Amino acid sequence: MDVDLTVPVVHLHIGDEVRANGSGGAYQHVYPATGEVQGPVPLAGPDDVDAAVRAAHAAYPQWRAWRPAERARVLRRLAELMERDTAELARLSVLDNGMTAGISGSLVGIMASWTSYYAGWADKVEGRVTSFPANQRELAYSMPEPYGVVGIILTWNGPLVSVGMKLIPALAAGNTVVMKPSELTPYATEHLMALIREAGIPEGVVNLVLGGPATGDALVRHPLVEKVSFTGGPATARKILAACAESLKPAVLELGGKSANVLFGDADLDTAVAVNAFSVLGTLAGQGCAIPSRMVVHADIYDEVVERIVAMVAGMRCGDPFDPATVISPVVTREAQQRILAMIERAQNDGAKLLAGGRAPDHLPNGFFVEPTVFGEVDPGSELGQIEVFGPVLSLMRFETEEQAIAMANSTAYGLASYVYTQDINRVTRMVSALKAGGVYVNGASPVVGCELAFGGVGISGFGREGGEEGLFEFLRTKAVGVSGD
Ligand code: NAD
Repeated sequence: MDVDLTVPVVHLHIGDEVRANGSGGAYQHVYPATGEVQGPVPLAGPDDVDAAVRAAHAAYPQWRAWRPAERARVLRRLAELMERDTAELARLSVLDNGMTAGISGSLVGIMASWTSYYAGWADKVEGRVTSFPANQRELAYSMPEPYGVVGIILTWNGPLVSVGMKLIPALAAGNTVVMKPSELTPYATEHLMALIREAGIPEGVVNLVLGGPATGDALVRHPLVEKVSFTGGPATARKILAACAESLKPAVLELGGKSANVLFGDADLDTAVAVNAFSVLGTLAGQGCAIPSRMVVHADIYDEVVERIVAMVAGMRCGDPFDPATVISPVVTREAQQRILAMIERAQNDGAKLLAGGRAPDHLPNGFFVEPTVFGEVDPGSELGQIEVFGPVLSLMRFETEEQAIAMANSTAYGLASYVYTQDINRVTRMVSALKAGGVYVNGASPVVGCELAFGGVGISGFGREGGEEGLFEFLRTKAVGVSGD
């Protein structure tokens, strides 16, 4: 295939400066589809992070003083530029982490729609007058205010979606930002920074530092960072909360999941099987936080579901992410591939029944691929039943009664999303109330489409919300004002 595989030179973006080198050294970026080194990524050291936070702090008074309608205008312009450059942003997203071109195009579209949605909020932030007594001498009201400098930490699986979910509402609310993508995904955000400039967002309002844990830690701990918004795994979230605890800094945590998809006997199997198999195996090679990686299936339809899933998986090709025929992209690194394969081996030792896949495909030895893998009869209490794989692995479990289904679905420490398939509206109502999750999605509905709807977790899937008014108010704090008259 004739595809442009050139990558941009990557920089740290600090105020009005672009730095090709970081004091934290450099990371050699590897293309997951081929294992080839693509080029160096500058890593921000503590002094780069300090400079970025100071640039954001210096830009804050001016950005806050902008009329909200002006902030809305430049954010709308940014959404238009994202749409204009969809092809390039999608190409760079593939080169970032090896996701398929089809998925990368749709993720750019999601970022643009969140951006235009939150642009619409920028001039609609309002407080409330809460008392205006009869003598009219006392006025009490609330006033939402931005925090100041917000530190945003992204993970590598879909950084552009997180840009729409975090960066844009933070800006709409009047904050300035230092954003730290993972060093594993430097390319699409490099292009995004050019669009941010072109849209007319002043220098210093959005700063970007690349790096790993040390860079993230320096950002979280910086005394001028007033709030942290993080997407990543629960283990890192614990470290971030511990760092935040020292200065009692608030944080939003969007973490992992082990989401259940409960299929009752009356489920529309055409939709249920296709959506589930594609979202678990074919979306980012299973590296999605809200994917339904546990399929909890009623005994009456279990055998038919197994048959359909196995047939569907047989047609899912691993391969070049730019090839439209490819469904299964590589996972992000060689280490991730080895970790997933080791988990697959342990699942077999634990007694789960391997129905499909389970290996690295022989014909793609250089890329970081894992075959689409399906396990049946998974023990809900086993490692595979409890722990997020973050790879193309689907687990099937069997239930007899609604109570059993609820118990299985709620049996992990996570609680990001739950999915239900049934034609019975009364059952839907009961399940929505019984499922322990930040969101419940019924008969094919998907969590990622709705920028108007709050998204987030319970349990070790984190706290705080992204999307809707709730997502905007994560970046605002309310000031109470009392005015006493004569
Ligand atoms: P991770 O927690 O290892 O890394 C995420 C980010 O945190 C990276 O940018 C990393 O450099 C940074 N980081 C690492 N240590 C840090 C520290 N001590 N202080 C500050 N920053 C630090 O996550 P991962 O394993 O790369 O990503 C996968 C996880 O992300 C999965 O659990 C997945 O489910 C989750 N995720 C959640 C969502 C969501 O919206 N809920 C979306 C995508 C991914």
